[in-house]
Amino acid sequence: MSEEKSCSFCGRKQSEVKKMFSSETTHICNECVTTCSNILQKEVGYEQRAKMQEQLPKPAKIVEHLDKHIIGQEDAKKVLAVALYNHYKRIENPVYNNVEMEKSNILLLGPTGSGKTLLAKSLSKIMNVPFAVADATALTEAGYVGEDVESILSRLLAAANYDIELAQRGIVYIDEIDKIARKSESTTMGRDVSGEGVQQGLLKILEGSEVYVPVKGSRKNSTTETVLFDTTHVLFVAGGAFVGLVPDTNTKKSNKVGFGSVQKAEMKEFKVDQKALVHYGIIPEFIGRIPIIAQLKELTREQMVQILMEPDNALIKQFQALFEMDGIALEFEPKALEAIAIKATERGVGARGLRGIIEEAMLPLQFSCPSMEGLEGCTITEAVIDDPKNQPIFTFKKEEEA
Ligand code: ADP
Repeated sequence: MSEEKSCSFCGRKQSEVKKMFSSETTHICNECVTTCSNILQKEVGYEQRAKMQEQLPKPAKIVEHLDKHIIGQEDAKKVLAVALYNHYKRIENPVYNNVEMEKSNILLLGPTGSGKTLLAKSLSKIMNVPFAVADATALTEAGYVGEDVESILSRLLAAANYDIELAQRGIVYIDEIDKIARKSESTTMGRDVSGEGVQQGLLKILEGSEVYVPVKGSRKNSTTETVLFDTTHVLFVAGGAFVGLVPDTNTKKSNKVGFGSVQKAEMKEFKVDQKALVHYGIIPEFIGRIPIIAQLKELTREQMVQILMEPDNALIKQFQALFEMDGIALEFEPKALEAIAIKATERGVGARGLRGIIEEAMLPLQFSCPSMEGLEGCTITEAVIDDPKNQPIFTFKKEEEA
């Protein structure tokens, strides 16, 4: 009878482990494989962090990078670039010449679909750090039904592939922060469970503290492992539209501005300050922890067209690639692009509306074009955008070529 195999690394017998991998002369058990894999993963984490330290880009470089993906929003880009640069400099030098560097989180203020999430995400890409998005409206005070504030950190940890060191330098975007405003600055009676309580809950992690975070899933599952997460170096970006605070030009009629009394020229300069935020219902302690305000503007029609065409993974480029795979050159007439932008503006959801509008217009063509014999070109006109039942301009291969 042959002798039972044992792991050449830890000595455990085959019967003691789940799986044994063998070559002619050596064996390794599944547990040793897992240990090796964990070590390797950690090393990747170290390398990533070392790379990050070496390559801290200057603010101008950060803006240059943001320009590749985000159209317009120049002011916000500058504010963010400086904030990001300072944040990571501060991580490297928490105390410099006896001066203690304090963290500054960021508030992005701007209409829906103007690029807030995209900006925050792009920052994390530039820094090569993990990124997590949370929705403030889904959060609740501890003890209530809903997501705990800690769940945000769990998500960041997962985005860092459970490398706690890397997660602790990540970026978190908390959306819809305006929705957790307390009902009114002057509300003193009764308790505002949903809003103020969540702001209080977030304070703790925004400032920088050590929190026990479930490694997987929710805290409500008592068997889950927890890990101590230090949020000191996590950069929090809060975002919100703050409707009513910022004048709104999202009207269905393009010749009018939404905020009757505010003229377009004034709006360009309209700056929201911290006092206005307190009035809106954000508690002063919370504002104190997000001292940097970057304001995004509503996108113009021209910018919407640029968004369709220019970024590296612009929507039009994506559709062109899809058609090219079938040997069809897809083009959009300028008027068609403008019509898409107008429709999106009417929907009042900023650039978020663009994809749906193109998908709608392109669906019949995505269905029919692949089986059209000899089709080599398809040009989308304004009429197609107005009504997808209208035909685009088709071009076919000449007879002799076909
Ligand atoms: P929000 O301001 O509501 O967070 P998002 O950043 O989620 O908006 O934008 C939704 C989508 O619209 C993005 O994924 C992106 O494709 C597009 N988009 C919005 N704003 C811009 C912009 N300024 N430049 C390029 N694309 C944009």
